Amino acid sequence: GGRELVVSFGEMLIDFVPTVAGVSLAEAPAFLKAPGGAPANVAIAVSRLGGGAAFVGKLGDDEFGRMLAAILRDNGVDDGGVVFDAGARTALAFVTLRADGEREFMFYRNPSADMLLTAAELNVELIKRAAVFHYGSISLIAEPCRSAHLRAMEIAKEAGALLSYDPNLREALWPSREEARTKILSIWDQADIVKVSEVELEFLTGINSVEDDVVMKLWRPTMKLLLVTLGDQGCKYYARDFRGAVPSFKVQQVDTTGAGDAFVGALLRKIVQDPSSLQDQKKLEEAIKFANACGAITTTKKGAIPSLPTETEVLQLIAK
Ligand code: ADP
Repeated sequence: GGRELVVSFGEMLIDFVPTVAGVSLAEAPAFLKAPGGAPANVAIAVSRLGGGAAFVGKLGDDEFGRMLAAILRDNGVDDGGVVFDAGARTALAFVTLRADGEREFMFYRNPSADMLLTAAELNVELIKRAAVFHYGSISLIAEPCRSAHLRAMEIAKEAGALLSYDPNLREALWPSREEARTKILSIWDQADIVKVSEVELEFLTGINSVEDDVVMKLWRPTMKLLLVTLGDQGCKYYARDFRGAVPSFKVQQVDTTGAGDAFVGALLRKIVQDPSSLQDQKKLEEAIKFANACGAITTTKKGAIPSLPTETEVLQLIAK
């Protein structure tokens, strides 16, 4: 009951991934089409777990854009915030899997549809229904989407939503490292919940350590929860009155794509079900455990969206 909608704002795109690892794009024998985009993944993660979710963003009015909107709907995500632009192309990314397992991205964005959403095109009524309004950073890079993003945050906050931010750094998309750092930190005190990876922690603080004193450089008195995800080690959390760490689950890792988004989606699902989790250490640790399990399962299959689990699958891993 009550207000449980998670509204996720930002980009949705298609990754083209070579069918074999360790080759350059030109040498790839064939590509697999993998829909994604962190904010879209988060919305689908919430929905797959049985929660209410909506996505707000712009797609090209092309074959790829229509495919992505259908994926949202097929996964039970409200697409009432999706705007189609006849003059724009849906974002595409070509992903190289290097032999060492690391990923390299080459983006088609000159500019892509997601960067062209304007403030006037926002579905204000939908955003006002959010219990949590979630977003990343790619939509903050350039106008007009930057203004749309900042306006949507304002609308959500005024309507009483919690704001959730995963900076989800994609360095290659920013004009410079300095601009990325400045723009990301310029809205740092506007989120209630912030999740960073170890890489982002180092990028933002300049220090390669996950010790509490380093993480606390990113803490703001306006925050309710700051999370640092640590891959198979689980995560560290910092709330107003308490902090701690929650280990993850042992799984056979195949592909980590989408693990962070699955983690965020699961955590937000738990928080909208019981917002008092943010003030109660025991409840918060239960919610983070659930999120760790959701992230862990997502690493056991290829791709992001196809590997996002249902609530039953998450509970089964926790009960094991
Ligand atoms: P990101 O994808 O944002 O870099 P992580 O890789 O840290 O985030 O993964 C997010 C969460 O998913 C982790 O906090 C953890 O709970 C879970 N997770 C990721 N990789 C593994 C793994 N190999 N084994 C178990 N859990 C994992």
